[in-house]
Amino acid sequence: MAKLEYDEHGRLLFTKEMKEEYTLLVPMMLPIHFSMLQSIFAREGYKMEILDTQNSNIIQMGLKYCHNDICYPAQLTIGQLMDALQSGKYDINKVAVVLTQTGGGCRASNYISLLRKALERAGLSHVPAVSMNFSGLEKNPGFELTPKMFYEMINAVIYGDLLMALHNQTLPYEKEAGASQRLVDYFVNMLNNDFAKGESMGPKAIRKKMDEIVSAFAKVPVHPRNKVRVGIVGEIYVKFAPLGNNNLEEFLLKENAEPVVPGLLDFILYTADTAMEDYKRYGGKLLRPLVTTAVMKIMTGIQKDMIKAMEKPGCFHAPSSFKHTKNLAGKVIDHGVKMGEGWLLTGEMMALIDEGVNNIVCTQPFGCLPNHVCGRGMMRRIKSIHPDANIVAIDYDAGATKVNQENRLKLMLATARKIAVH
Ligand code: SF4
Repeated sequence: MAKLEYDEHGRLLFTKEMKEEYTLLVPMMLPIHFSMLQSIFAREGYKMEILDTQNSNIIQMGLKYCHNDICYPAQLTIGQLMDALQSGKYDINKVAVVLTQTGGGCRASNYISLLRKALERAGLSHVPAVSMNFSGLEKNPGFELTPKMFYEMINAVIYGDLLMALHNQTLPYEKEAGASQRLVDYFVNMLNNDFAKGESMGPKAIRKKMDEIVSAFAKVPVHPRNKVRVGIVGEIYVKFAPLGNNNLEEFLLKENAEPVVPGLLDFILYTADTAMEDYKRYGGKLLRPLVTTAVMKIMTGIQKDMIKAMEKPGCFHAPSSFKHTKNLAGKVIDHGVKMGEGWLLTGEMMALIDEGVNNIVCTQPFGCLPNHVCGRGMMRRIKSIHPDANIVAIDYDAGATKVNQENRLKLMLATARKIAVH
């Protein structure tokens, strides 16, 4: 075991020595995106393992080591890490655990402290808990996110969003089973190699690669694209993570529907945008908004390129731009509502309807007040503007039964098909 070092507040640090020897365990959220992020970290010398476990012990661990009243995503992510640590698969003297820390006002900023408490209760307080954040919240000498890594991570996110959208629009219609998944694997592998080499990718190279990806998917032989399209929105973890939403996408595919999942980049843009809103409303130092504006310009530029690439072949539905989603959200909710997914959640529902996706599943985790306000709380207002909107809120928690969730989803799908016939 490496020598343990603590900061002035008694927080166990992840040291440079640990970087050489330790494996970093990270809870899975988005398989395509996280695979590329893992490659970026591997090139920088980190041994990182993304946990894709899905067993009933995970939630038991979450309930055992977290307070029962804490948000369901915290129970699952901490539960997944504790399950891995106690699985016997890892040398617990050479392992560290990682959680993201958004830095917003929501409880997600405190998951890392809850994780440390869980480690302490399990007699594992010598395992470092590393916060992954871009706001300088917690620093570790052996864990550094450089501007180059940040830029590459944004690229990985946009490629992930693109591949996820193309896969979702191709898989339900492919004539040869597995054709779409093979393309996802091929491109993820190719991009992982690029990230592993660390070659810098400028906007021109990214555009070229996106065109290549889109045209490959456009060539997949498909049946007519005419299934019921169902949007998935909600709290970020239960929206994306199959563990959090009981494999919702898989269920919708089985029910002969096409899942439509707004990408991760919008959430990152939303997080940056809230810093700007704060500055506009409450003032503060000018440097932060200046830097944020420059970073947002890069991100929105890449998103614009992705939308253009998706529109080119004429067979795919491109997602809305962040700016458009924000404008649509503003018709229903104030842009100052920024706890959790805040106005973005409402905006994503409005944008989906604007794109013609009237059927929406709003995933709601237990213990999540912000998303109950911005998700369930906004439905009546959205329906008053769009009477055809067919939105269902599904609760996800340790006690919710899959059967109950699926029955509600089937009811929503039945309504969707009835509307489609008329
Ligand atoms: S958004 Fe909801 S689930 Fe996520 S930390 Fe906040 S309260 Fe918890």
